[in-house]
Amino acid sequence: MGGRIPPPSSFRNRDAHRLDITFRGIRSFVSTGWPGAKFARLVIGCPEIERFQAAHPGKVGERSLMHVGHRQGVVCAMPICGRLPGNFIAGLFLHEFGHLATGGGEREADRWVFDTFGIRILYETDLDLECVDDFAMARILRGVKKVGLDLRHNR
Ligand SMILES: [Zn+2]
Ligand SMILES: [Zn+2]
Repeated sequence: MGGRIPPPSSFRNRDAHRLDITFRGIRSFVSTGWPGAKFARLVIGCPEIERFQAAHPGKVGERSLMHVGHRQGVVCAMPICGRLPGNFIAGLFLHEFGHLATGGGEREADRWVFDTFGIRILYETDLDLECVDDFAMARILRGVKKVGLDLRHNR
């Protein structure tokens, strides 16, 4: 990267870029099982999530990093998601697509992901964050290769 130390703002931009490109990858993967996914959009940053986090100190607030249903067809994601390992970003996005596809709750979202793609949403770390295993990640990467997205740097 030219040896120059980037200013803090470009770290944020890099996180946003990583989140955006991962979203596109997951969206194209999900589109293979649910064409409606194509219309989904990503918005990074959400005042509603921020309010929820402020109202729920501790784990409940801290693990609230994405949601849907706030704006139609939009997945809202907190900027910090761009710093998570790729398996977590993928798990979070897949879970949110499960909400979008079913209009249902937590179990229904994960059930849909499993029934449609055979991918189990796992809950890892102290925060019980959505995640997928390496096998699922490899499948997703193979699936998005065709559209020229490279998620391998997201590990
Ligand atoms: Zn929102
Ligand atoms: Zn959920």
